[in-house]
Amino acid sequence: MAELKCPLCGSNSFYAKDPTDPYEIYEFDLSEGKMIFSSEVDESDLPEVDQETETYCNRCAWHGKLKILG
Ligand SMILES: [Zn+2]
Repeated sequence: MAELKCPLCGSNSFYAKDPTDPYEIYEFDLSEGKMIFSSEVDESDLPEVDQETETYCNRCAWHGKLKILG
């Protein structure tokens, strides 16, 4: 699988927002096509993340659906 990274800055560090609470964010890295969530994230607490999930770059202003990266 291709390396997934930000099309603007090349970072593989992203976050997604909780659809029910915009102040709640979930940081993750994309590594070898997998989402590696930050250790601060409680996995039982994760929102559903799929190809349609709006994803935000941690380093720059890029955001878009996860599927764009793939
Ligand atoms: Zn970026």
